[in-house]
Amino acid sequence: MSSTTEVDTSYDFIVVGGGTSGLTVASRLSEDSETHVLVLEAGDNHLADPRVIIPAPLYASSWLRAWARLGNDWWTWAVMEPYYREFYTLHVPDEATSQHLGLDYITEADKAARGPVQVSYTGVLQDPLSKAWVDTFKGMNYGMAGDPFSCRSLGGYANAATVDQSSKTRSYAASAYYAPSSKRTNLIVDHSNPVSDISAKLHELLQQYPSDARNKLQYDAICKILQEPDEGTGALFMFLAQANLHNDDTAKDYRQNLQPGSFISLGACQAHVFSRGSSPIVSDKLSEAPNIDPRYLSHPLDLELLARHVQFLERLARSPPLTNYIKPGGKRNHSTAYVEDLDAAKDYVRTTALSAYHPAGTCAMLPRNEGGVVDNRLIVYGTTNVRVVDASIMPLIPRSNLQSTVYAVAERDADLIKGHP
Ligand SMILES: Cc1cc2nc3c(=O)[nH]c(=O)nc-3n(C[C@H](O)[C@H](O)[C@H](O)COP(=O)(O)OP(=O)(O)OC[C@H]3O[C@@H](n4cnc5c(N)ncnc54)[C@H](O)[C@@H]3O)c2cc1C
Repeated sequence: MSSTTEVDTSYDFIVVGGGTSGLTVASRLSEDSETHVLVLEAGDNHLADPRVIIPAPLYASSWLRAWARLGNDWWTWAVMEPYYREFYTLHVPDEATSQHLGLDYITEADKAARGPVQVSYTGVLQDPLSKAWVDTFKGMNYGMAGDPFSCRSLGGYANAATVDQSSKTRSYAASAYYAPSSKRTNLIVDHSNPVSDISAKLHELLQQYPSDARNKLQYDAICKILQEPDEGTGALFMFLAQANLHNDDTAKDYRQNLQPGSFISLGACQAHVFSRGSSPIVSDKLSEAPNIDPRYLSHPLDLELLARHVQFLERLARSPPLTNYIKPGGKRNHSTAYVEDLDAAKDYVRTTALSAYHPAGTCAMLPRNEGGVVDNRLIVYGTTNVRVVDASIMPLIPRSNLQSTVYAVAERDADLIKGHP
């Protein structure tokens, strides 16, 4: 990345944070060679780092519908759908693999998207479990009713991943947006200096108008979403590896202390979460982190829903054809992983639940009197030109993984800044 330690030019835009949304916005704004953009990024350049470019699956479906109901009238799905299609290009596998993976849900519009992030399917003909996953859901009358790229992903499906098919590497904001535009003289990424005091005013305002995500408005919005006929309460997934959720506090993650043998792992995420965390600023020094308390499972409904999904995983594992690939009486990685009833499932959730690493909503786009930090145009209340464009503006956590919505929000904001409504 090009880098500067002394900022001697006047910039039209200063983007703080060169992550997913920062690089997307910076790359779009610098398309105009007269517009000078500086990105201030705390981290290093990892474009060649194998820990970054070796891909992991991404659950790429996206969800947005309820934002409009929270006072954001012009952030509807109809407005946002084109922006989802601006960030990715989908590579559909050959006919045999497509049939094997049950990809008949892919529409012509999905195929027509021509954005910079490369999306492909990692499932192959040689892997019978990907097919068994889809067929098991069909057998339980949960076949796909729609297209996950358009938010209708109730049912079992093989998921796309942000993997560049040709290089088999991760396709992400730095490789897809930044790398091709890195030669532009009007785009500078400074990754040598973390921002420690960019705007005292912003800091003040964030203190003054903290996002209180525990309010009734959001609770009611989630209730409405859950009552929609094509909406799910959870996301279930499977991967062909072992996870150990029973480590003590000294273990770093679920990939430690594994048992010998071949395993698959089944998992459940909650789609719409009622528990609300908080992240108040506790110091007037920007170098001091806010006090982040996610308050996981603090709403009793979350525990109940998640426990019921864990119970459903038991049903799934016993249903054909998936069950044919699981050894009868085979091992699980912990005795409590045999979940017999709802109480056992709740205990299991309490002792093993992990974060899905999708923090959002700390600067929510909500009406100011509802604890919002930014308005419909993502401008911080009380300012004229300070914007927040990242996962923190989401008024509700989307059902799917965050990245697709982060890209769509960044694409739209770049358009808004350029003067397009
Ligand atoms: C472990 C993990 C796994 C995930 N897996 C998935 C997945 O499979 N699929 C999916 O869709 N989503 C996934 N996510 C979520 C997704 O990565 C994030 O939601 C998304 O990247 C958020 O984008 P952002 O632009 O809001 O923030 P980021 O991409 O995090 O960008 C923020 C940037 O700001 C920089 N920064 C921070 N402080 C400063 C400072 N003071 N000065 C300058 N720069 C600063 C950071 O270094 C960073 O580059 C995962 C997240 C994690 C942590």
